[in-house]
Amino acid sequence: MPLTKDVILEALDTVEDPDVRRSLTSIGAIKRSAVCDGHVALTIFAPGAVSKFARQSLAKQIDVAVRERAQEAGDPVKSLQMEFLDAAGDVVATFGQSPNEDDAQGKQPQPPKRDAAAATNSGIPGVSRIIAVGAGKGGVGKSTIAVNLAVGLARKGHAVGLMDGDIYGPSLPTMMGLDALEPVVLGNRIQPFFVHGVKCMTIGKLVERDKPLIWRGPMAHGAFKQLAEQTEWGELDYLIIDLPPGTGDVSLTMSQILHLDGAVIVCTPQKVAQDDAVRAAKMFEQLGIGVLGVVENMSYFIGDDGKEYDLFGRGGAERMAQRLGTPYLGAAPINMALRANGDSGEPSKNFDDDSQLAKELMAIVDQLENQVALSSMKRSGQGPTLSVH
Ligand code: ADP
Repeated sequence: MPLTKDVILEALDTVEDPDVRRSLTSIGAIKRSAVCDGHVALTIFAPGAVSKFARQSLAKQIDVAVRERAQEAGDPVKSLQMEFLDAAGDVVATFGQSPNEDDAQGKQPQPPKRDAAAATNSGIPGVSRIIAVGAGKGGVGKSTIAVNLAVGLARKGHAVGLMDGDIYGPSLPTMMGLDALEPVVLGNRIQPFFVHGVKCMTIGKLVERDKPLIWRGPMAHGAFKQLAEQTEWGELDYLIIDLPPGTGDVSLTMSQILHLDGAVIVCTPQKVAQDDAVRAAKMFEQLGIGVLGVVENMSYFIGDDGKEYDLFGRGGAERMAQRLGTPYLGAAPINMALRANGDSGEPSKNFDDDSQLAKELMAIVDQLENQVALSSMKRSGQGPTLSVH
């Protein structure tokens, strides 16, 4: 059985707050829990663990309980990081364990592995590159692809951030499973949510849910810029931005606010969708933002009979990419699990097995990595050379 949040919560159900004497889960002490590929991160507010000694002892108990339960489940913990909050929500202690350390002694968590060679021209300190995911119109799966690119890149060992650029209709709270989490602000810095191996930020967690966001242009743009700049991203190889749909004023301005290194365009195979995607490509071109590639979403459907059905005319986006002279990154099928995991905020599950879906998504991530590498080579003037001796 793979190591999931449920397994972790089962373990935490056996550990008690030292003062209240009730399980951590029953008193709502676990403010955040994230599991990705054996790596576990927990944010805890245990009212009884006020002294340094009490926190250390509780951290040790949690460490033992989580590891034992994971072992029983047959999927051992690779690393376990804990942060303890005080009643005001400030972090008062961290217990980190990178895969090479062997006991929780209050060490700082290790920063994620980072691509040291990457240029840092993003305008956000510590962030190597910002990639926007855009679409000519809504509903084509732009947010779904943005989320899965971010999770896929993180699973390949990159330090990844993900931010909602769609401040009028943010999707990340649902798609990344942020519903039960509370935002944490330290000083004037917003702490990103660390879920599915990705540092995540969305306006959706900072405003009241279900209230329409009726900000006028400049206010909305200001909020977006502030969110990008005031989030404590730390060191990132990639910051993925889920742009608003379309090529109107909002997406245009959002694309200009940050120093984007490139854009990915999501498109469904139909002719009408391609026309919109061409407009999106032109918009990026006019703004001087390179298109790293086109992803064809809802490309085909695999029926119960195992056959592939090209409902919308598979291959349309690839032909469009060829016409535009932009790279084609690959196709994602229409897939019920992809939709369900998006609705339930569990995108890691898309990559959990050896499914066709996991392969298709990882192939898109691989292609994106290639295109990013090519575009930075071009920018630094070190194009690949062929020498004949
Ligand atoms: P957009 O960001 O372009 O508006 P979303 O990513 O929000 O689109 O997707 C719209 C809906 O379609 C969501 O419910 C999502 O889960 C679903 N969806 C997107 N791509 C797929 C797919 N390939 N297979 C099945 N459902 C999908």
